[in-house]
Amino acid sequence: MIEYGHFIGGKHVAGKSGRFADVYQPMDGTLRGRVALATPAELDAAVQDAAAAQPAWAAVNPQRRARVLMKFLELIARDGDKMADCLAREHGKTFPDAKGDIQRGVEVVEVCLGAPHFLKGEFTDGAGPGIDIYSLRQPLGVVAGITPFNFPAMIPLWKLAPAIACGNAFILKPSERDPGVPMMLAELAVEAGLPPGILNVVNGDKESVDAILDHDEIKAVGFVGSTPIAEYIYTRGCANGKRVQCFGGAKNHMVVMPDADLDQAADALIGAAYGSAGERCMAISVAVAVGPIADELVDKVRSRAARLTIADGEAPGADMGPVVTAEAKARIEGYIAAGVEAGATLVMDGRGHVVAGREEGFFLGATLFDHVTPGMKIYDEEIFGPVLCVVRVDTFAEAVALINAHPFANGVACYTRDGRSAQEFAQKIRVGMVGINVPIPVPMAWHSFGGWKQSLFGDHHAYGEEGVRFYTRYKSVMQRWPDSGSKGPEFVMPVNA
Ligand code: NAD
Repeated sequence: MIEYGHFIGGKHVAGKSGRFADVYQPMDGTLRGRVALATPAELDAAVQDAAAAQPAWAAVNPQRRARVLMKFLELIARDGDKMADCLAREHGKTFPDAKGDIQRGVEVVEVCLGAPHFLKGEFTDGAGPGIDIYSLRQPLGVVAGITPFNFPAMIPLWKLAPAIACGNAFILKPSERDPGVPMMLAELAVEAGLPPGILNVVNGDKESVDAILDHDEIKAVGFVGSTPIAEYIYTRGCANGKRVQCFGGAKNHMVVMPDADLDQAADALIGAAYGSAGERCMAISVAVAVGPIADELVDKVRSRAARLTIADGEAPGADMGPVVTAEAKARIEGYIAAGVEAGATLVMDGRGHVVAGREEGFFLGATLFDHVTPGMKIYDEEIFGPVLCVVRVDTFAEAVALINAHPFANGVACYTRDGRSAQEFAQKIRVGMVGINVPIPVPMAWHSFGGWKQSLFGDHHAYGEEGVRFYTRYKSVMQRWPDSGSKGPEFVMPVNA
């Protein structure tokens, strides 16, 4: 049994609260360990350490800070397989997909090596007589990230890498479902030369999250998770005067136009709906079949879904592993029952799927619903499991209106061969990330990630230049030198007329 405490001031510390959450191994349903749940006092201890360490880190020149991240990357590569094994065991995703989770985080760190460039300000020589102006970005101080279970490497790295590269100290409150990889990342950062106190992991639940939201010394909070919690954190954090960005849930649609290559579209749907057992915020959970292709598309998806290899994530050739917990499995089964009850056509039922030798694992089979309509719970709500709903519409305009009416707006895709439809789709769709013949359009690390509407509360997207903006404050300085002369007191607003 593994016992996770916290990582504070550059070292592991045991939890003092006496409260713990269980950490499972979804592939066989066994208990892998437990994780301590911090009290506000333990969170405060981490914040005090971080606040003491941060000014010296901010004073290190940005290129030297980037070199620490460079070493961090080397160490992640060294320990990548160990980390992916832990990730696959605690989350349930397949081992190759766990490596992808780490790699997409690594790419964000790689772009943060360019922080010296992002942080360099602007300068105007002679903005007025004898006056120069320059602008710069300064770190905020101590900042925090609260992250979900579904990407335990990538999402902490989205947050901590830009924050630290910009000279902040960071408190990470990862998901209590799979804390192993975040703890490894903190260890490696210190081994890479990050001063103690600059990256701390405080494990916990609502109690520690509330302590983060109420702590005066924490200047910004980046959250990723479900929409109700995103909204709660945004509201409470903003009320306490913090800078807050909260990424919420999703219901990502993929439109399949009558002119699309249906085999390509069906392959895309299979990977995007059932990869990682549908536990991705960019998973496709709704296929919108436009016009007469619906029967053929459903048939192609069904025959592919029937061939999926559902197995424990360490098994070679596994396409899809289990879901994260027994509760998640029960919740998803409840949605399937609700879909049947509402009158949708259950084409494939993933309930009761058993993997030989892993009978206690949290497995579900691929589930496919046809003839789904708005107003059904399986359409309106995020299921976050391997369930794909097909909605049939007659026209492109109906598809666009359907998607624009949905409260979630994280990602969306359109499969078509027609350039005009593609262009119109990208322009008219009110969703943050758009794929044209790309099912999961997660922007590369030098762009930025974020949804709209109920999928993102706040102003900035994540990583890239947006990440730097979120974790820094802009300052502008006007300077004149005493020997430039004095015009005496001035009572009128200086202008450039
Ligand atoms: P979650 O909202 O249950 O938990 C996220 C974090 O919030 C965890 O650290 C958890 O400990 C904390 N938390 C949970 N309940 C809380 C409460 N009542 N008060 C305060 N904090 C609380 O999400 P999850 O189940 O870990 O992750 C899945 C969700 O995350 C899905 O909805 C998915 O769409 C979303 N997600 C969104 C994005 C995105 O970028 N938009 C990315 C990944 C995941």
